[in-house]
Amino acid sequence: MIETDYLVVGAGASGMAFVDILLDRSDASVVLIDRRAQAGGHWLDAYPFVRLHQPSATYGVASRPLGGDRIDTAGPNAGFYERATGPEICAYYAEVLEDFLRSGRVRFLGMTDYLGEDTEGHHVVSRLTGTPSVIRAATLVDATYIESQIPSRHTRPYAVDATARVIPPSGLVDIAEPAPRFTVIGGGKTGMDTCGWLLQSGVDPERIRWIRPRDPWLLDRSSVQPLDLVASSVRMQASWLAAAAQADDGSHFAHLLEDDGVFLRIDPETEPAVYRAATISAAELDQLRSIENVVKGQRVLRVAGSSIAMTGQDLEADPHEVYVDCTAAGVPRTRPRPVFDNSRITMQYVTIGIAPWSAATIGAVAAARDDVADRNRLCPPVSPTGEIADVLDVAHAGLQGVLARSAEADIATWNDNCRLNPARDMAAKAGDPAVLAALTSMAANFGPAMDNLRRQRTHRGSAVI
Ligand SMILES: Cc1cc2nc3c(=O)[nH]c(=O)nc-3n(C[C@H](O)[C@H](O)[C@H](O)COP(=O)(O)OP(=O)(O)OC[C@H]3O[C@@H](n4cnc5c(N)ncnc54)[C@H](O)[C@@H]3O)c2cc1C
Repeated sequence: MIETDYLVVGAGASGMAFVDILLDRSDASVVLIDRRAQAGGHWLDAYPFVRLHQPSATYGVASRPLGGDRIDTAGPNAGFYERATGPEICAYYAEVLEDFLRSGRVRFLGMTDYLGEDTEGHHVVSRLTGTPSVIRAATLVDATYIESQIPSRHTRPYAVDATARVIPPSGLVDIAEPAPRFTVIGGGKTGMDTCGWLLQSGVDPERIRWIRPRDPWLLDRSSVQPLDLVASSVRMQASWLAAAAQADDGSHFAHLLEDDGVFLRIDPETEPAVYRAATISAAELDQLRSIENVVKGQRVLRVAGSSIAMTGQDLEADPHEVYVDCTAAGVPRTRPRPVFDNSRITMQYVTIGIAPWSAATIGAVAAARDDVADRNRLCPPVSPTGEIADVLDVAHAGLQGVLARSAEADIATWNDNCRLNPARDMAAKAGDPAVLAALTSMAANFGPAMDNLRRQRTHRGSAVI
């Protein structure tokens, strides 16, 4: 029998950012378990050319920087803060785990499955030995609720004939012979990463076919820069609030942000329906637009040797072409539930995007407040659905959290100094005219934005939280 204050299930970005804050702001003991061998979550199984799509400066855990806060001078990210590669992120989490173990307050059980709880305690089992254990913990932290879905581990939503070469993006680096064509299936961040990598690796755009059933709205990466470039993030927040104050629905909101240079789309002629907060630079967008063979508005049903059965019209296929499956959801759609229960914390987004900042915020609130209702008031879940139609609800929940937390001096001060907060240097740059103008606009629009978002929720029949 193992006894601990917190049992944290899931050593991905969420679990790690939460434990990091607990170590800093409480004297709690922690048992951290994961069915994977190491800390790092989905990054450990990601395709080799994956990178953060946001700056490293605001990713990871609060106590340890990721990268050197350099601004890239070459390539499609030139002018923006560096973005860690998958291997850099995995190495980073290995170091963070070492920090945790050195504290003497954390025990890590890798290759361990969480099974459930009964009157005896929490049951776990080693995947290697099959040995069961019981853990008694005052609080269970479920850091698996928003677990990422990735191509190498998901079940494809279409059938594949035995002769068809369908691979996850990670399989591309094992290709030994040139393919006549690459068909990339999926229009999300993984699909964009895959198309971008193929193009950067010298594949002619004419040899790429992109099946992109629904286009995404994208954030211009120039709008999410921290540190010395924080004026861009503050300006983006000001645009977001101004749009929230006026928008009649999610699509209207997106168009207002597009007019303001914050939102982008791949094809100017196609109305996007998806929003998953992926960021892109103008140079990356130009590259993607060089792919002209794009199949829209329909989904794959079956990949066969010489044809693809679609929900609309079937497509021709070359028996030797390579299909890259990019249809995993990434960030899954989850039902919002209270983050805090009496003896359970369910990690969810409580900020708009950025899992580590959300998890750290939950940790800071858990360390500073005891009352469950008070904790939940400070952490309303912000559940992304991936649909632009729902973005006003996401904005409403996000602003409710901002309002509640900024009214509590201790939490607000922690947040203002947290390295995971993209706008943490806002106050230091308040003398910059661009920052000042954005702050003035935000102050003017906060109230009208909350009023409009509440009105729109009532209008659409959503339950007002
Ligand atoms: C390709 C890709 C790129 C992304 N890029 C970014 C980005 O640039 N910026 C950003 O903010 N977000 C990005 N995201 C979103 C990403 O989901 C979050 O940043 C974050 O990594 C999610 O961490 P997590 O801990 O919530 O989930 P995960 O990383 O999925 O971790 C959950 C962990 O729980 C473990 N687990 C699950 N069930 C059990 C069980 N029963 N017992 C034991 N262990 C269990 C799993 O093994 C896993 O390690 C990206 C996502 C993907 C898929």
